[in-house]
Amino acid sequence: MNILFLGAPGCGKGTQSKILIKEYGIPQISTGDLLRDEIKTGSELGKELQEIMSSGKFVSDELVLSLVSKKITQDECKPGFILDGYPRNISQAKSLDRLFIEKNINLEYVFLIDVPFETLIERCTGRLLCDSCDYIGNMDRGENIGDTCHKCDKGKLFQRKDDTEETVKNRLNVYQEQTAPIIDFYQSKGILHKMIGGNDPAELSNKIASVLKAS
Ligand code: AMP
Repeated sequence: MNILFLGAPGCGKGTQSKILIKEYGIPQISTGDLLRDEIKTGSELGKELQEIMSSGKFVSDELVLSLVSKKITQDECKPGFILDGYPRNISQAKSLDRLFIEKNINLEYVFLIDVPFETLIERCTGRLLCDSCDYIGNMDRGENIGDTCHKCDKGKLFQRKDDTEETVKNRLNVYQEQTAPIIDFYQSKGILHKMIGGNDPAELSNKIASVLKAS
């Protein structure tokens, strides 16, 4: 089962991907995570990526395509995968189509998670991640930077460098200009499912599960 999540930063793509990983045992391919992994190595490339990503701009199409194509052809992706954060513009969507044809891969579902921009700004600027597990917290829940994660009881909570208000607003502008046009691209293929993302991830995941079970 091959799934793609589409939606603006903070809409819940990562959270929904993680729910599906548990349910279907297929891996998530998050280009944002792959790029952050490169930054963690401290390489020259990582330093360049950090600068681009801190401004909310996109990294080059060639780089993300090479990361995705390397990952997608690994054995762990044979039973299926969940793409999160790729493609992000029409050129990437077309490259992905070509890659799928070349590798004989069929993309079955594209879920667009729609959330108002004002909500996304609040969510992203309050978002806290654990440096040790996949927990996603929020300052709205009384959590703070540096707190010990209450899921793994080990990691510390931190804020992503690109979750400041200014960068989140830039990321939303870039989404509007470059990523939103992809919606029509997948709509015309007849595989797009538009979901309204509220505040309850479990409710949204039930809706996604009913689409997956219905077909
Ligand atoms: P994300 O974790 O998906 O919000 O991505 C964080 C940042 O990584 C983005 O703001 C971009 O700078 C970069 N990035 C992630 N995916 C892509 C992509 N498909 N194309 C270009 N840049 C990307």
